[in-house]
Amino acid sequence: MQKSKIWLSSPHMGGTEINYIHEAFEKNWIAPLGPNLNAFEEAIQNYLTPISSPYRGTAEVAALSSGTAALHLALILLGVKPGDEVLCQSMTFAASANPIAYLGATPIFIDSERDTFNLCPNHLEEAIKDRISKGKTPKAIIAVHLYGMPYKVEEIQELSKKYSIPVIEDSAEALGSSFKRQKCGTFGDFGVLSFNGNKIITTSGGGALVSHTEEKKQKAVFLATQARDNAPHYQHSEIGYNYRLSNISAGIGRGQMEILDKHVALRRKMHEFYKNLFKSIKGVDVFSEPTEDYFSNHWLSVISINSSKTNGITREDLRLCLEKENIESRPLWKPMHLQPIFEKMPFYGSGVAEDLFTNGLCLPSGSNLNDEERERIANAICGCFKI
Ligand SMILES: *Cc1c(COP(=O)(O)O)cnc(C)c1O
Repeated sequence: MQKSKIWLSSPHMGGTEINYIHEAFEKNWIAPLGPNLNAFEEAIQNYLTPISSPYRGTAEVAALSSGTAALHLALILLGVKPGDEVLCQSMTFAASANPIAYLGATPIFIDSERDTFNLCPNHLEEAIKDRISKGKTPKAIIAVHLYGMPYKVEEIQELSKKYSIPVIEDSAEALGSSFKRQKCGTFGDFGVLSFNGNKIITTSGGGALVSHTEEKKQKAVFLATQARDNAPHYQHSEIGYNYRLSNISAGIGRGQMEILDKHVALRRKMHEFYKNLFKSIKGVDVFSEPTEDYFSNHWLSVISINSSKTNGITREDLRLCLEKENIESRPLWKPMHLQPIFEKMPFYGSGVAEDLFTNGLCLPSGSNLNDEERERIANAICGCFKI
């Protein structure tokens, strides 16, 4: 009999989600608007900038149908137009870059650095200078906290300021992470969250745009609800979108926010589990915070394999070993400048993202994994490395 599947990251309900959905049904709040939507936005806002934090009042949250929609609206709000250039971390999920193409703009891809696997400040500055010298100042920088690890926040902010280029902070994988105790999602001119099915919390599909003024939030909500002018009939002076989160999905989100910190702790425990497991296996590095300033939610636990030190065992060998035991694992995001759809776009870098892609593997990381499943994972890994 085949053993049950162990997933990389699967939805994990806390239990109260269904109550909020029941309530919405009882009161017929089935249309997109409703109390769950407002309460969910407020819960996120309170989480990102708690009452006790010095950042209180600096985050405004608009709940949307996806993280991709949030990225699209962020670019629109920054005035990105056809022919513009947008700087984007190459190593990321395609959703970080696709909205640049929706707008007819050109993505300029930037390599990663090895400490956080995220946007390399040196190559970023090299790219900015080169694009300016060619006559075009890029309109935005899209920086990503991959797998929950904060990017080099201070270095990126400094460059943003120096060249007056706003930052869109793709925090889709990093809800619950922080840098110097400030929550990820609050650093950029705009922050993006995702509540897709495999993320740290889910609304079964959804996202949010974080901005820093009520006015920007309202503009995002306006665009996300078909850009209706204030009139009794349907009147439009701008192109709108249907990007608002539904009140039903927001009900799931309300329940999920109640257990977010618990689930972050469980994901971090999975990371500890892998650190212990790989202590005795030479040539395998468990991706961890570079300094104490960084706090990762460890959405996914990631390893890098140096096959010259593992008797030739590669990440693909380990992936196949795990697959045989019905355990899901996955290579890291394939860099965008190597994707067939984006390979003709400019790229500034020196092969770091490509190397991370070749040797890295994401391992099962869900907050709902149990001891028995951890034992199966440990046995499969030890079997593969023959220890
Ligand atoms: C998931 C993800 C997105 C997109 O979010 P959706 O809600 O799935 O549209 C964007 N960027 C990154 C880095 C992601 O992991």
